[in-house]
Amino acid sequence: MSGKLIDGKAFSERVRARVADAVSGMASAGVVPGLAVVLVGEDPASQVYVRSKGKRTVEAGMRSFEHRLPATASQAELLAMVEQLNADPQVHGILVQLPLPSQIDSAAVIGAIDPAKDVDGFHPVNAGLLATGQDALVPCTPLGCLLLLRDHLGDLSGADAVVIGRSNIVGKPMAQLLLRDSCTVTVAHSRTRDLAATVRRADIVIAAVGRPEMVTGDWVRPGATVIDVGINRVPNPAKGGDSTRLVGDCDFDSCAAVAGAITPVPGGVGPMTIACLLANTAVAAARAHGLDVPE
Ligand code: NDP
Repeated sequence: MSGKLIDGKAFSERVRARVADAVSGMASAGVVPGLAVVLVGEDPASQVYVRSKGKRTVEAGMRSFEHRLPATASQAELLAMVEQLNADPQVHGILVQLPLPSQIDSAAVIGAIDPAKDVDGFHPVNAGLLATGQDALVPCTPLGCLLLLRDHLGDLSGADAVVIGRSNIVGKPMAQLLLRDSCTVTVAHSRTRDLAATVRRADIVIAAVGRPEMVTGDWVRPGATVIDVGINRVPNPAKGGDSTRLVGDCDFDSCAAVAGAITPVPGGVGPMTIACLLANTAVAAARAHGLDVPE
């Protein structure tokens, strides 16, 4: 493989160690950051995410609070829980695990979270602060991508970046972060004409589409840096039966053959998301208590 592997797992361990240091520094001021995660329903993937978030939170020296509601919970019940967590001084970060059951309006729930505790960075106030270049809590997945890029490339200034995907949780905040780091940013989506040609111009490609192995090596400019956000479960005929495997939005082998560097799936962006969630919780706690905000 001529492309260089970007090891998100190893880098995320370094980020989590830095967060743990910052958290132990806060102890002298009597502050223990707390993260509350709310899970509605029994979605198996969400249960796995919530469990691993709780484990990592405790490992970083923070308090973890887990709240579960049945899949039949009403919007009023969930909003009441969010209000209770907004008022709880031990809770500095609130994350409501998405997706929510169809009877609940996700936007209303996200909008009810205190923006100062919105460690997912999805509240419109945080989106607006990010867009206007002010201190915000930034969505964890794009923040993780940015940290990986800076670690690998150093100064991103002047780079041509193409973000494929324009969701509120990945594509749009990713574009804002790259713009803040002085990249020239193109946001592509399902209506983009000649996506391959658009991607081929890029020094930096961020794929956040949700389509297995859509980006192929012939789309990638030689030497470009490819960040694959996609997490797609596909059948794994090599293992037979009902077995599956995880793939990204990029066809790893063909992209790695031409890219200067690329993130694998799994082991690339995924582990950075949780590390950034912990970092955001430490930042929220520091701000709440007037302490120095960790880097
Ligand atoms: P969404 O479904 O919300 O958004 C997908 C975006 O891709 C949309 O903007 C859509 O365009 C665009 N798109 C879809 N098809 C095409 C196409 N053929 N060509 C160009 N653009 C297309 O997904 P998310 O942003 O929530 O997630 C994207 C991926 O990232 C998923 O695989 C998800 O699992 C993964 N993910 C990974 C995380 C991690 O921790 N690593 C965290 C969050 C997500 P349009 O707007 O026009 O419909």
